[in-house]
Amino acid sequence: DRIVSPDENTSDKELDSSLRPKSLNEYIGQEKVKNNLEIFIEAAKGRGEALDHVLLYGPPGLGKTTLANIIAEEMGVNIKITSGPAIERPGDLAAILTNLNPNDVLFIDEIHRLNRMVEEVLYPAMEDFALDIIIGDGPSARSVRLDLAQFTLVGATTKAGQLTSPLRDRFGVISRLKLYSTEELQQIVYRSARVLNVKIDDAGALELAKRSRGTPRIANRLLKRVRDYAQVRADGVITEEVAKAGLEMLEVDELGLDDIDRKMLQTLINKFGGGPVGLNTLSAAVGEEEATIEDVYEPYLLQIGYLQRTPRGRVATKLAYEHLDLDYKEE
Ligand code: ADP
Repeated sequence: DRIVSPDENTSDKELDSSLRPKSLNEYIGQEKVKNNLEIFIEAAKGRGEALDHVLLYGPPGLGKTTLANIIAEEMGVNIKITSGPAIERPGDLAAILTNLNPNDVLFIDEIHRLNRMVEEVLYPAMEDFALDIIIGDGPSARSVRLDLAQFTLVGATTKAGQLTSPLRDRFGVISRLKLYSTEELQQIVYRSARVLNVKIDDAGALELAKRSRGTPRIANRLLKRVRDYAQVRADGVITEEVAKAGLEMLEVDELGLDDIDRKMLQTLINKFGGGPVGLNTLSAAVGEEEATIEDVYEPYLLQIGYLQRTPRGRVATKLAYEHLDLDYKEE
């Protein structure tokens, strides 16, 4: 598994859940999203109603699942967790919906991957808390409406643009999660170190934060791997030196770039003169899927200004040339 991939791998599952903050207060960063939610949650609780449906979008590993859990926790209700691809038939969704208690949270990860038929069951459920069931078939078929308990749907997706508009329109709250700043990631590293009982100093935490690509999941993963290094090669404390040596061994550079990022930038520069080149051409040249390039590699490269998305395609910037020690020709 790629160490700096923001996607959850099997060994992350346990780490992710043990390191999840449980309340909005403990959740670091994303101030705007938190402030909004705080108000909406308090208002809904005051009225004794379910919170409006919430759509969270942004790259993987930024805390969407964590926020969904926190929403349920703060509302004092249960959460049912599922994902778009896991709900195959309308009946699967109907079963989940009829089992919810009043004001419960239903979290659907990768909600853009729901199929059409399932999505259509979701519309009246979200809007009127009702299920329309067709009884019989042919000319004698009729539709019966079944009432559901009020619930809050929390949907997560890497890109809101991938959602159909009837679905998107049914969310009362739509929040975009942003990549985290180095300072925020440093706080997350401290917090996780405390939970995991790892000794780390300021400079050590900063070093991990800088290489985490704006992503808490990566910060936690680097912490866990460098902890092992510190335990075996140093006296268990993660200092700047230990962090640097450990990360070098993991082949994560000072900006959190790994071989695949470098290969992508090198291909863009060496094969396509730095661009612009279309996503599909780039994808074929580096042998990675288009969606992976868009959702996993690009957000961070765009954020640090190594890559630009233009109408004519992807372009490598001067910073990328410099990072790779390649000559940049001004136009
Ligand atoms: P997503 O659902 O967006 O892929 P997760 O909610 O699973 O991401 O978060 C991945 C990991 O990152 C979790 O283990 C969580 O501990 C950590 N994390 C995410 N956001 C925060 C945050 N704001 N503060 C502290 N830890 C966070």
